[in-house]
Amino acid sequence: MPSVGRCPCPAHDETMNAPASASAAADPNCIFCKIVAGQIPSKKAYEDEHLLAFHDIHPWAPVHVLIIPKQHVATLADVGPEHDAMLGAMLGLAPRLMKQLGVSNGFRTLINCGPDGHQEVYHLHMHVMGGPRPWARG
Ligand code: AMP
Ligand code: ZN
Repeated sequence: MPSVGRCPCPAHDETMNAPASASAAADPNCIFCKIVAGQIPSKKAYEDEHLLAFHDIHPWAPVHVLIIPKQHVATLADVGPEHDAMLGAMLGLAPRLMKQLGVSNGFRTLINCGPDGHQEVYHLHMHVMGGPRPWARG
């Protein structure tokens, strides 16, 4: 039996459940933590124990979702080896989600990091955009 607090899913080993020094379970001032907590509404596209995906409120493309870890990690620059499984899960989810949402002709992934990366929301997220062009942006 897995011990309390560990995800039994084989895709989620115990490193995904370990508290990370550069991150916290939730930041009370973070808009995406509030979405995870259900305090701010979102149009959810996917959810599991560790990840949430929801539609971007200002889409660049016919399909534009954000994949986020439920755990608060501010930026891609804050991740360490303890986040490798989570990052792999985020990337692996992208093609499955695009297929599920009817995207069949390719898609774009994007992670903005920090001020020079034009990151606006400081909770790690991966944009995944697809659908027929032209797009509003990108
Ligand atoms: P970034 O510039 O990479 O930090 O992107 C942040 C993204 O979050 C932008 O594309 C916003 O449109 C999106 N966003 C901000 N607030 C919300 C929200 N409440 N629900 C969905 N998407 C949001
Ligand atoms: Zn957060």
